[in-house]
Amino acid sequence: MARVQLKHVYKRYSADVTAVQDFDLDIQDKEFLVLVGPSGCGKSTTLRMIAGLEDISDGELWIGDRLVNDVHPKDRDIAMVFQNYALYPHMSIYENMAFGLKLRKVPKAEIDARVRDAAKILDIEHLLNRKPAALSGGQRQRVALGRAIVREPQVFLMDEPLSNLDAKLRVQMRAEIAKLHQRLQTTVIYVTHDQTEAMTMGTRIVVMKDGIIQQVGTPQEIYNRP
Ligand code: ADP
Ligand code: ADP
Repeated sequence: MARVQLKHVYKRYSADVTAVQDFDLDIQDKEFLVLVGPSGCGKSTTLRMIAGLEDISDGELWIGDRLVNDVHPKDRDIAMVFQNYALYPHMSIYENMAFGLKLRKVPKAEIDARVRDAAKILDIEHLLNRKPAALSGGQRQRVALGRAIVREPQVFLMDEPLSNLDAKLRVQMRAEIAKLHQRLQTTVIYVTHDQTEAMTMGTRIVVMKDGIIQQVGTPQEIYNRP
């Protein structure tokens, strides 16, 4: 069960910067929720609070049936995919994908099975021995996804994961991520400033502006509203 609930959540970076204000939303299990809005509207901050990378100034965050305001990121049963991939350059692709599991003391045989499964799903089995520098942008993005998948999280958080890719690859990866969501049946919270991306990927869309939720609805509902 991976319902994510934000109850009147606020983030104040300082006395005059309130990045997120009264964010109140119930994200259902298996939903593909997209946060969309212009740069600076508070999307990343919201995602980072869910991940536990930023403290919450006020309000409550629930993942499943747990209040996680004070739970360490590592113990939140989530995995995050960033736009800059953040792969370790000195490690092979295999090691990049295995690293998080090693830290969590997952047994080696299980790590091996999970890495190979994820590599198969993402069609990167042939790249496992290479270093990140030897990969194309699209391949690196798949590795970043693979590194999240092997964790088998209940919730995937994605922060503009496709923004560094060219237009053609972006369209292709949109479809791949949608397929992945179908296959893994997890909850996805996906941040983008790209309206087309939001409309094509989201089962539900949250439009943010100046730290405030402006609209919530299906792509159809958002599209039909002025
Ligand atoms: P978005 O992801 O929509 O571009 P952010 O969540 O990154 O928006 O930023 C929301 C607001 O919070 C912006 O005004 C930004 O300048 C501010 N902000 C973000 N991170 C910090 C930080 N670490 N310290 C102070 N202000 C920040
Ligand atoms: P450690 O760094 O903990 O010693 P290893 O690098 O020896 O781990 O790898 C342990 C297992 O992981 C190996 O037996 C192998 O099955 C698998 N493995 C490691 N690196 C690769 C790789 N580049 N390609 C395929 N499998 C690998």
